[in-house]
Amino acid sequence: MSTLMDFRYKRKYTAPNGADGQGGMKKGRDAEDLIIRVPRGTVVRDRESGAVIKDISEDGRFVLAKGGAGGWGNKHFATPTRQKPNFAKRGRAGQRRDVTLELKLLADAGLVGFPNVGKSTLLSAVSKAHPKIADYHFTTLYPNLGVVWAAEGVSFVMADIPGIIEGASEGAGLGHDFLRHIERCRLLVHMVDISGSEGRDPVEDYETINRELLLHDPELAARPQIVAANKSDIAADGEAAERFRAHVAAQGMQLFEISAATGRGVRELVMAIAGKLRELPPIQIFEPEYTETEELPQTCGDVSIREEDGVWLVEGKWLERVMSGVNFDDAESRMYFDRTLRSAGLFERLEDMGIKDGDTVSIYELEFEYRR
Ligand code: GDP
Ligand code: MG
Repeated sequence: MSTLMDFRYKRKYTAPNGADGQGGMKKGRDAEDLIIRVPRGTVVRDRESGAVIKDISEDGRFVLAKGGAGGWGNKHFATPTRQKPNFAKRGRAGQRRDVTLELKLLADAGLVGFPNVGKSTLLSAVSKAHPKIADYHFTTLYPNLGVVWAAEGVSFVMADIPGIIEGASEGAGLGHDFLRHIERCRLLVHMVDISGSEGRDPVEDYETINRELLLHDPELAARPQIVAANKSDIAADGEAAERFRAHVAAQGMQLFEISAATGRGVRELVMAIAGKLRELPPIQIFEPEYTETEELPQTCGDVSIREEDGVWLVEGKWLERVMSGVNFDDAESRMYFDRTLRSAGLFERLEDMGIKDGDTVSIYELEFEYRR
């Protein structure tokens, strides 16, 4: 996949449920995994905190939400004296995750520039990518990636970023969505049309794009740039081209005059990009900032407690949730449950309310005698 377009209208994904168990000790079948495909370079964040859960920077699977553990049929609780228990335990609900997906392409070099300057033409000339090329603006609706082989064993990934136009950093045109794609590019190849074929001024175009980069993210404006002055084959306005050369030189930027269409100067540009990339740090991969911790609730806030004749009835949503995951036949599981109740401050609350040794605590199907 090359875009996150699919997620624009479909935002909720639910894996199917597993099957119920059956007679004759048959386990219920697991449901199929729900696989959500995203483009490489998608950064998955926790929606609420914004913390990075995973940077999908490599092929392969990543489990975002685990299915719930299955329940236990009544046979599980059978003992020699209790051969047909009339109780069983439900399975747990699966994990639910609210995340945001953000595509930050993994490209070494990003082609930026006004629409129609020849970015797609260059990418298709130097790689096997086949971006749409046409003589009208905004032909490229999504970024294209191509691998460019510069020399034996030397290659890099170049992205063709759709036209950034004035106001892109504020959301004008299509540019806004795409500016983030170049955030990870190690080098920007700033392409300008110097032919004057569209009656544009190269110096103005160049400055406009740089301003948009700055407005989007000052760091982006500081990213190393190489300037590609394209359409030199039809350069009609010699004066404008000369002014542009001088302008770029004054800023200490490297400029390559090329013709993406005829191939003139393209090889030199590619070599310069490869050479520059050698000096630059690798592509930034975001480390996960999100760790799942054992969910010991900090409070028992939403728990209701009432007392009737020395029996303390305790109820609450999180209690239900916690209990659904505890196997009370298992000592370790029981200890976990006890820890959970303690860390939630349940016993303190019972004490405050006047519970006495020997009273009964009743939590759903569970009853025990209270001892300090
Ligand atoms: P993009 O919007 O920057 O991707 O521009 P495209 O690659 O789609 O090119 C826009 C138009 O300019 C197309 O008609 C191309 O054929 C033409 N074009 C691109 N590069 C050159 C060039 O070096 N010389 C000439 N004469 N035309 C070019
Ligand atoms: Mg294009």
